[in-house]
Amino acid sequence: MNRLLLVVVVGVLALLPQMGWVPEFWITQLNYIGLSSLVVLGLVLLTGVGGLTSFGQAAFVGIGAYTTAWFTTKLGWSPWVTLWIALAITFVFATLIGAITLRLSGHYLPLGTIAWSLSLYYLFGNLAFLGQHDGISGIAPLSVFGISLGAGRNIYYLVWLIVLGSLWLTYNLLHSRPGRAIRSLKGGSSMAESFGVNTANYKVIIFVYAALLACVSGWLYAHLQRAVSPSPFGLNYSIEYLFMAVVGGAGSVWGAVVGSALIITLKDQLQNWLPRIFDTNANFELIVFGILMIFILQYAGNGIWPIFARIGSLLRGGKKQPQAEAPAQATALEQRPRPEKGTLILELDKARKEFGGLVAVNDISFKLHAGEIMGLIGPNGAGKSTTFNLITGVLPLTSGDIQFEGKRIDNLRARDIARLGIGRTFQHVQLIPTMSVLENVALGAHLRRDVGVIKAALHAERHTEAELLFEAAKQLERVGLGDYLYEEAGNLALGQQRILEIARALAADPVLLLLDEPAAGLRYKEKQELAAVLNQLSDEGMSILLVEHDMDFVMNLTDHLVVMDFGTKLAEGKPQDVQQNPAVLQAYLGGIDDDFDEDELAGINSSKEAV
Ligand code: ADP
Ligand code: MG
Repeated sequence: MNRLLLVVVVGVLALLPQMGWVPEFWITQLNYIGLSSLVVLGLVLLTGVGGLTSFGQAAFVGIGAYTTAWFTTKLGWSPWVTLWIALAITFVFATLIGAITLRLSGHYLPLGTIAWSLSLYYLFGNLAFLGQHDGISGIAPLSVFGISLGAGRNIYYLVWLIVLGSLWLTYNLLHSRPGRAIRSLKGGSSMAESFGVNTANYKVIIFVYAALLACVSGWLYAHLQRAVSPSPFGLNYSIEYLFMAVVGGAGSVWGAVVGSALIITLKDQLQNWLPRIFDTNANFELIVFGILMIFILQYAGNGIWPIFARIGSLLRGGKKQPQAEAPAQATALEQRPRPEKGTLILELDKARKEFGGLVAVNDISFKLHAGEIMGLIGPNGAGKSTTFNLITGVLPLTSGDIQFEGKRIDNLRARDIARLGIGRTFQHVQLIPTMSVLENVALGAHLRRDVGVIKAALHAERHTEAELLFEAAKQLERVGLGDYLYEEAGNLALGQQRILEIARALAADPVLLLLDEPAAGLRYKEKQELAAVLNQLSDEGMSILLVEHDMDFVMNLTDHLVVMDFGTKLAEGKPQDVQQNPAVLQAYLGGIDDDFDEDELAGINSSKEAV
């Protein structure tokens, strides 16, 4: 958000309660908007960014509210103590619930959250010591330094201080090492895990973070409302929070405030007007909300905030402010020692992968030595990508074994294999399209620095962050994408996205680089540039295993070729020898299938001419 705009917004927020003409009702509304914003902010992180839908946030609000209600009224404890108790209880609950439900995938996760949110709701309503359906009343207002926050105009400051603070923390978190990991969750786990991200852990982290925000909202609510009862913590409120997140724009922190403000104001206006129009007191606003939701999903799929942001950027002359900038200078990250040229790096021994009855990789064996560029070629469906997935731990082997630097890796998880120094790209590019090119590549360096969530949220990791971004920029320069650091990755041409993936793999400081069709979609000149980069890497001692269809590219670049067909190794050796192998010619020229793209045909034809 624009700095100036931020100052104006904060200034107006600060002055509002001081202006006598502002009606009390507005202040109350703003207080409730603040309380909702906290819950919705959690959903922005959890659902909008992380892709995990929760129908249970209101239950966490309830935990915050009931905890402070009980401890302050029954034991007479200070709300400033009960806040921490509430946070602790929420932390334990959310960690447990998260660890169990976040394993569910697809539609089962939202269903799971509905299940536990209903259980908590009925628990609030049935426990005698929580006052059952009457709840707990007589809660004292908050006070700070002897000043009572009983009046709406007073607690207003605390509410909005907490909201702005939470926005700041969440924004910081999103633009940091853990934030990049969190933003990678939505696209499925295999890419992120390949760069060492423990995706299961990050899911629990954002779940707990969102629950804690909801808990603080509940704590404030109890002392603002001075009474709690189960109904505001039920499923329909959870749905309303989710609705606010979607309407506001679930991908950006300001969307939380915009969505809350819009829905709360609209709900109030509808409750005013609809009974007058229809002459009944039925809950018509729900129907209007439903229709509104359909419109928003149809015409502004990313919510309202991105529209505001676009207007803001137009006012600034169309320039987008990069959210993370590479520093001009920073300490270089240390590199892992490179093995001596010629030492054995990777060895596959009878590696086998079956998918049901299909043998995708049929007892493949080969060796790769340090500094070598090896090509893995073969027609579509030969099992090349599956072989990559076996080496990188994305898929488990059916039988056989794989050793990396003398150590068995076929029983390791993808993120542990990444830690050993294997970097990869994907045949179907896997990047975060809405994140800048720079930050996408910085995700590759995830394992080279350790920054926790708290440090990132407090923005106390500037130094480390600068080092990571500096490294990312360096790798992008190296592969020739230096001009695109701040472009959204999704805006690059497909060929450039592949090159971006190479930079991301390099940012991990690998010993072995696996490239799955890196030259697909590149123009002739770009292919030459890529070949130069790969040659230089190999000179520096990097070992490279690549799958490629462009035969010219492969023949000129590689030292060694393995040819696969139907999962089986057909031939192996120096490119010029393999090229003349009758079995290889038969596989390529005898069995061209419809899946072959033009590039591939061109490559084969030119290599046929060469033969
Ligand atoms: P290539 O990369 O050489 O074109 P792949 O390794 O992608 O080939 O695929 C090899 C064979 O395995 C193909 O027949 C493909 O359909 C099959 N295959 C690949 N992945 C899976 C999977 N996850 N489940 C079932 N079959 C798969
Ligand atoms: Mg493939």
